[in-house]
This record gives sequence, structure tokens and C-alpha cells, in this order.
Amino acid sequence: MAKPPTPPEAPKPGNFLRSIIERDLESGSWSARHFGGSPGDGAHHRAGPADPAKIRTRFPPEPNGYLHVGHAKSICLNFGLARDYGGVCHLRFDDTNPEKEEQEYVDAIIEAVHWLGFGWEANGSSHLYWASDYFDFMYRAAEALVEAGLAYVDEQSAEEMRAARGDFNTAGTASPFRGRTPAENLARFREMRDGRLADGAAVLRAKIDMASPNINLRDPTLYRIKHATHHNTGDRWCIYPMYTYAHPIEDALENITHSICTLEFEDQRPFYDWLLDQLATLGLLERPCPRQYEFGRLNLSYVITSKRRLRALVDEKIVEGWDDPRMPTIFGMRRRGYTPESIRAMADGTGASKSNIWLDYSVLEGCLRDDLEGKAARAMAVLDPLPLKLVNWTEVFGTGHIEPCRAPAHPQRPELGQRRFGLGPEVWIERDDFAEAPPKGFFRLFPGNKVRLKYGVVVECTGCEKDAQGRVTAVLAKVVPDTKSGTPGADAVKVRGTITWVAAHDALAATVVLYDRLFTEAQPEAGGRDFREVLNPQSKQVVQAWIEPSLSETAPETRLQFERHGYFVADRTLHQPGQPLFNRITTLRDSWAK
Ligand code: ATP
Ligand code: MG
Repeated sequence: MAKPPTPPEAPKPGNFLRSIIERDLESGSWSARHFGGSPGDGAHHRAGPADPAKIRTRFPPEPNGYLHVGHAKSICLNFGLARDYGGVCHLRFDDTNPEKEEQEYVDAIIEAVHWLGFGWEANGSSHLYWASDYFDFMYRAAEALVEAGLAYVDEQSAEEMRAARGDFNTAGTASPFRGRTPAENLARFREMRDGRLADGAAVLRAKIDMASPNINLRDPTLYRIKHATHHNTGDRWCIYPMYTYAHPIEDALENITHSICTLEFEDQRPFYDWLLDQLATLGLLERPCPRQYEFGRLNLSYVITSKRRLRALVDEKIVEGWDDPRMPTIFGMRRRGYTPESIRAMADGTGASKSNIWLDYSVLEGCLRDDLEGKAARAMAVLDPLPLKLVNWTEVFGTGHIEPCRAPAHPQRPELGQRRFGLGPEVWIERDDFAEAPPKGFFRLFPGNKVRLKYGVVVECTGCEKDAQGRVTAVLAKVVPDTKSGTPGADAVKVRGTITWVAAHDALAATVVLYDRLFTEAQPEAGGRDFREVLNPQSKQVVQAWIEPSLSETAPETRLQFERHGYFVADRTLHQPGQPLFNRITTLRDSWAK
């Protein structure tokens, strides 16, 4: 099990949403609700049995892009609260805006939520819903508001409306259309619906208070005209509801109890409450109505989460697609090797607070290391290969001998078994494990020094070979007899350094991609800077490596620790048997810590 992370600087934020839900459950605020088995109006739910879900939350993405780590936070919060309190979380596609949605995004969102470990099947039904299925009710509710004198058709131009709204210091002024009778408004609204008016010619507005200190209550727009084809409803509608009108209704029809959103919607809450209260009073919805709660957005250092910016990274080919392993999309993180457990641990560990938070990227990496440490099998790989020639091999072992070696797949998990590989007269070592003139404190290979080849034998360096430019092309060493790991007396020869290696005769060639952060600055857009100025030129380095023969059957998405190097994953799209391709998930320690 992953330990919950402790953000280094801030104390662990609490989760005020849990307190609210616990208080609600204790006082039974939601216990008398009925649920009609599917979304519907007040009468539909009233006719159903008691709601089997103690609470209902929802995750309401707009299917207009790929989900990112900020959405993952919201998913973990909404599905997690429902799971923890005997509730149900709905997946709702907020597709009230025609023209923008695409099937590609719908499929990707479904897959991402599942991959994170959440589902929407509960009490024998699937709670996956489409906001556009509620257009009929939304229209009926709008007519009811018009008839009750709570909404009117405004035919001012967009500029006139904006000017009349006033601002923080000035009250708004009433539209000349505000005094129309309900009958006039109803007739005009139906003309809007019937396609008799052009885009932008009129809107339906709530009639609330043009002098309200909350500008969102100065007669907000409920419907606009848009002659556009919708993926679900086709050409049936040419008027579409505004998000602020649609969202509370979607929640109410689905019997949502706790509608959790990010802080920027705080100013919308009075309208959310006003609307649902009016519709309940008009008999269209049941009470108690859903309640909206706002929590602070999650921002990660070194990461950009705006959909628009992520799209720019893809379109400008700064990255290689939405699932590029450097992208903070759920698909990118998955390809990079992140585990769903580590993302959930990060989300749980950051709780829910009333202010936006900046989380240090190292916290997420810490969750990942905590999770992988116990899970990932070990293997050896040489990422910057240099040959090491064991010059006395034949003398010690005889011609053509290969010495069999074994190593645990995981040091704490014997049940994972042993890896097997051979040691022969020539092996690959890391170039930086040799120094002709060793710097102070260097305990690895240099002439005259002894090191252990991990799980193998002790060798003593005797020198190196160089090319015409003076570059080292091979290291030379002698095997020290009777030092094989695991044999009696192997430790009689003391060494201060142990190095990883793979044997030239049985190593597999592999492509290894060393990924790193996409930006060099923790807040790439601080002070209005263009994020393109702080791209990390080292965010992707491709190396040709040698890996242990035990990895010949590795399946895509297998996560491993290459000893001394970090955690790696077999790429889920490009890795193939015979052509291994591993991505570096993260190094063993935080290499960015100052
Ligand atoms: P973007 O601004 O990147 O386009 P969005 O919020 O418009 O994102 P939606 O598809 O509407 O995208 O988001 C679905 C849900 O995810 C919303 O409830 C939203 O509040 C939540 N969400 C999005 N980003 C974050 C974040 N950084 N932290 C927490 N929740 C988030
Ligand atoms: Mg949105």
C-alpha cells in the first residue's frame, strides 16, 4: 500500500467536504429522498423508492479535450467521497454546447476514469449520463419561469446588454424589454425556439435584480439562439441553455446531493440556489435541492493544466501527442508509467481546501516512488554502455565458460522469484563507472581499484583502451578468483564499490527514453511569461541501452526498477518483444531538489 504523501512545506490540508457530508449524514438531511431509477423531474423521483445512495456526487466533464491531472483530482474527490459514504458518483458528459464535442474525447474520458479505478455502475444500473438528454426538461422549466414572470426575452444587442449590466461600483439598468408580460414573453420565447429569430437576435434572461451586488444575479442569460447541429439532438434545437442555467438543473434531475466544483464557481452559487428554489416552488423539482460546494483547484509545479495550452503543445508539435509521456494528461501519465494508485494517493493526500493549491511536483513523484518501491521488479540495464574486458577470464574459468548468476526479482519479495543471467569475458558497464584519474571519493573502476560486478565477481581494473581521439573505448580488468557472490568466502576480498552491468553475450538491445520535466521553471507562466521560453531542452533523451536477458518477455506497461537508475516502464504503444522500448518514469531520488 502506498503511504499517503505529506506535502513538504504545507501541513496536510483537511477535507472540509468530508465534514459537510458527515454532518449531513448525521442530521439525515438527505435521507428522505426518493430516486426514480434514472434522471427525471420531481414527479419522477417522488414515484420511485427511497434513494439507495446515501449521497450522490458527479464528475461532469465537457467532452472537448483530454483529461489532465487536475481532472484526476476532481475524479478522485467525487468518486472517492461517494465510495467512502455509501453513495454513488455519476459520470455526466456536459454536452450542452453544440459543435464542440467529439466521440474521441468521450471514449478517452471513459477509459481514463476506469483506469483511475472508478466506475459508475451501482445498484444495478449505469450512472453515465448526458446533459443533452435534459434539453426537454430545461425548456419546460424555462417556460415555467416565463409564465411565473421570472424570465423574459431580451432583444437588446450584446453590447447594450453588457453596458446595462453595470459593474462592481454601479448598479445595472433595466432592459427596455424587462417589462413585457408573461404572455408576450412566452410567445416570443416560442418564436426563438421555432427558429424564427437569427443567432444573437434575442436571449432569455432570468428576472432577478439588476442592482444586485453579485453581478451574476443581474438577470443572467438562460438561453441563447444558436442554429447549430448537436451530436445528440441533431437539428431539433436552435436555442441552447447557458452553462449556469443547465448545470443546476442537471444536478437536480440526477438527484445529486453534493455538487462539488472549483472555486471560480463560488459567485454562481446564489444563482444556482435561486434557480433550483424557484423550480421547486413551481413544483418541477423535489426538495431538498442539490447544494453546490467549491474547493480549490490543484496546480502542480512544472506543469501546465489549461486545456488550451495543452492543445498548443500538441498542435505546435512541442510534444508528440496528447499521450506524450511528458504530458500531464491522464493518458500521458499512464504512458509515462504512473500508476493509478500513485495518482489517487496524491489526490487523497491533498484533500480539499477553500483555496487553490500549488503542489510541488516532487510530492506526486514521491507517491509514485512509494508505490513502485514495493511493486516493481528489479533488473539491470546499462544506459551509456562501455565494454569491460575481463583479461584473465580464460585463465580463471577456462575457454568458452559462462558463469551463471542469479538475483532476486525483488529484494523484499522472494515470492517473485529469481532472475538468471550469465557472466562472460566481456560485459557492458556504465561509462561513468570508470575514471582514468578518479576524482576524490570515487570508489568505482579506476586503474588498481577493485569493485564487485553486482551478483557476480570482484574485478580489479588494470587500465583502458582508447581511440585516436583519446576517448576510452574499453576498460580492462582482471577477475579476482573465488569472489563469486553467494559462494563461501566471496566476501573475503573487501571492495568499496559495486557496479551494475550486463554481459555482452546475452544482453538485449533496447531503446530507453529518458524523460524529464517539460519546463525548467516551477511556474512556467509566472508573471505572464510565455511557457515556450522555459521548455526544458532535456525533457526527452533517447539512448540505446543494453538490458538483462530476463526481460525478453516483458509485456507493455510492465514497470521495473533498473537498479541504480530509476523506475522504467515498457511503453504501452511502442514496446514489442524483440524491440524493447522503455520510458523512464522517474529517477530513484528527486534530482530536482535544491
Ligand atoms: P480546463 O479549464 O482545463 O478546460 P475545465 O474545468 O473547463 O478544464 P471540464 O471538463 O469542465 O474542464 O472539467 C470537469 C471537472 O474537472 C470540473 O468540475 C472542473 O472543476 C474539474 N477540474 C478541472 N481542472 C481542475 C483542477 N486543476 N483541479 C481540480 N479540479 C479541476
Ligand atoms: Mg469547463
